[in-house]
Amino acid sequence: MLKQVDYVRQANPDGICYVIYDHMITPGQMEIYYRAIQESPNVLFSKGKVARIVEEPSGSMIADVDDTLLGDSIQLAVDLVVLPTGMVPNSLDSSILQLEYRQGKELPIDSRGFADSNYICFPYETRRTGMYAAGCVREAMDVTAAREDATGAALKAIQSLKQAAQGGAVHPRTSDLSLPTTLLQGCTQCGRCSEECPFGAIEVDERRYPQLNPSRCRRCGICMGACPVRVISFENYNVDQLSSMIRAIKFPEDDTIPRILAFVCENDAQPAFDLAGTNGLQYDASLRIIPLRCLGSLNIVLVTDALARGIDGVMLMGCKTGDDYQCHFIHGSELAMKRMANIQETLTRQMLEPERVVAIEVEITDYQKIPGLVDEFAQSLRAMGPNPYRGF
Ligand code: SF4
Ligand code: SF4
Repeated sequence: MLKQVDYVRQANPDGICYVIYDHMITPGQMEIYYRAIQESPNVLFSKGKVARIVEEPSGSMIADVDDTLLGDSIQLAVDLVVLPTGMVPNSLDSSILQLEYRQGKELPIDSRGFADSNYICFPYETRRTGMYAAGCVREAMDVTAAREDATGAALKAIQSLKQAAQGGAVHPRTSDLSLPTTLLQGCTQCGRCSEECPFGAIEVDERRYPQLNPSRCRRCGICMGACPVRVISFENYNVDQLSSMIRAIKFPEDDTIPRILAFVCENDAQPAFDLAGTNGLQYDASLRIIPLRCLGSLNIVLVTDALARGIDGVMLMGCKTGDDYQCHFIHGSELAMKRMANIQETLTRQMLEPERVVAIEVEITDYQKIPGLVDEFAQSLRAMGPNPYRGF
């Protein structure tokens, strides 16, 4: 759009340009170009929406502009209207890839239509393991930025190939070589693990039993959290192991001290606790913490087990959800928040207050909020009184 203004101004030095925009983003050095155009004579910028353009008998045109900063509609008499085309994400074209994934033939996309991924944790890598996105497949950018982006994506792909050729892992959890296994005898063929895996690593066979594709798996454990009959486990991470950790926790015998357990995601919430500690912040001493690979790997049976063992309250702490999610494994945290509904239902059936379980989004930078969150929950549990299952 700015370039069009430049062309029109050069062709008509005495003309006036009105620039009507809805949102204006000029990334990086483009800001300098934006300022230069903004400050050039006879160029007027206004936020607004062009609702209608009517051609006059004289050949000139009237543009109706709504939602302006003036809070009113305005009419502009103009000789020429330039409509710059908007950018459309490349990933929207569904005919290109034709991938063999149960979750769909194309790359998963975000709410704006770009290839979805947490690009901070998996640079350039889409949710289809081994497929790297660059340029306008990944986000809106100009040609220069797209060229640099493509160089970055190619380097990342080369780095991954080299690592793999040397027998190394290309994803986080580099020291962890275990993969999820499924005890098929107990599987009810519900397909939930296949639907919820963020990376489409689980396909189903003709009898609807899950089939892991190991080269797609990033070992997040979300399938383990999703399985209603708990038949998915890792050699070094499983429901039994987490259950043993809950059993091994020691609390003071004093009935007036609440027993609180927090399941925290090791990527954001746990470092937030670490930062709170290194900054000397203090919180209620009745809290015990179990870190998880991802909050999405938490099977709800562990929460109900903890309460059945007399723990007074459980906190689930994971990354930010929504369009601007922080979850390293895309929707793990969001899935855990959704499973909360089932937890609350079970608590009500067990005649326990649903408020004994809370789910909270915590980013690393939220470390200063940790004492307030823990203390507030401890206080609400003190008001509720001890879990009636204590001692059974
Ligand atoms: S561990 Fe994560 S990536 Fe691997 S199959 Fe399970 S849900 Fe998918
Ligand atoms: S979620 Fe569990 S029960 Fe359902 S298909 Fe997967 S392994 Fe089987």
